[in-house]
Amino acid sequence: MVPDTSASSRIDELRRVALSKRRVYSWTLVCAAAIVLLSWWFRSPEDLFLAYVYPAVAVACMVLLVPLWRRTVPMRSMEMLLLGFGTAVVLSRLAWHFHSPGSIEERLLDLIGGHYWAVALLIVATVGILDRHRGLLFGLLIITASAILAGSGLLVEASHALVAGETVMKLVRVHIFLLAMLALVASVALLRDQLRSAMARAESWQRWANTDPLTGLANRRAGEHFLQEQTARATEDASPLSVLLLDIDRFKRINDTKGHAVGDAVLVDVAARLAEGVRQEDLVTRWGGEEFLIIAPSADTHEASRIGERIRRAVEQQPLAGVQCSVTAGIAQHRHGEQPHQLVSRADTCLYQGKTTGRNRVVAALEGEAGTDRAAGIDPEPAVVTADSR
Ligand code: GH3
Ligand code: MG
Ligand code: MG
Repeated sequence: MVPDTSASSRIDELRRVALSKRRVYSWTLVCAAAIVLLSWWFRSPEDLFLAYVYPAVAVACMVLLVPLWRRTVPMRSMEMLLLGFGTAVVLSRLAWHFHSPGSIEERLLDLIGGHYWAVALLIVATVGILDRHRGLLFGLLIITASAILAGSGLLVEASHALVAGETVMKLVRVHIFLLAMLALVASVALLRDQLRSAMARAESWQRWANTDPLTGLANRRAGEHFLQEQTARATEDASPLSVLLLDIDRFKRINDTKGHAVGDAVLVDVAARLAEGVRQEDLVTRWGGEEFLIIAPSADTHEASRIGERIRRAVEQQPLAGVQCSVTAGIAQHRHGEQPHQLVSRADTCLYQGKTTGRNRVVAALEGEAGTDRAAGIDPEPAVVTADSR
């Protein structure tokens, strides 16, 4: 495991975002349907748009909830559908206001006190759903369409009746307000995008700083950080924690006889075996050169020995990069209050013992009666300590 950078954690995050979006869009549709029905209930008899179109809009809002929750339509297409639907309703209502019989001046209160708020919300939604540039462009198109509808309505009315200058000025002010709001929302979107890319950069720097470039495992820095956290946690809740220090046997000989490139390939393959052999919660780190440290939270010596033995066998069973290899492992379980370097040092003592007693073995530090360690060397299963199988 490499903390926080796994593909599965990213997929989880994307799922969470999609779920939040689904919730927000659902509530928006439910609220829109409620507002539309309320407007329909309190309609004036001559408002045919409210009488006939609004019930259909309320039904459409409810119908749109179905693909949203059944996920039959991809989220991006669903967003476009919602945006298109909202724009069509808002602009057609504006067209009705400006081009149905009756004085525009009389409708001004309805427009400014009500419908232009819907235009404003549509602009905010546009910049939220689309990317910044497209949102800005689409917002400008909505404001332009609104201005054209208002202007053409005023011109038609002016051709047969007097239009008050104040009415024109109020509509101009509304459109200036809409433009200012679009600028504000686009600025917020710019800040949002800058923040997102700064966070993405920080995340990739962090990944770079914590990853070993050759094997792709967590590096020593990440390992030390994780070990610090885990020893503190183990001390706090008195839960077990073990470390396994593994070293490739006679690695220098591989370098000397097959060359450094093969040596590197062996390191990569051993790293893969280690990653396969551990549990989900364990962290495998390249501790240095051809040494690896596995930090196994909640594992006692027995559990850690099982992990070590599984890995030892996996390495021994098949040649890696065409080379027959083996590893030796030293294991130590955390003692209450022990510092990380003391824990690793005890694992190193066991590793040294494994090397001096023949290599290709797992040696675990057993607690002595007076609290001192003795490295135990009992044969394979059920292994607190296992020796080589040759
Ligand atoms: P032992 O069984 O006692 O561990 O013997 P060893 O030969 O593995 O140990 P030694 O410490 O003598 O040699 C380790 C070698 O690992 C020396 C060093 O050149 C090599 N090494 C360290 N890092 C790398 C690396 O990134 N790539 C390659 N190819 N070799 C490396
Ligand atoms: Mg070695
Ligand atoms: Mg070594």
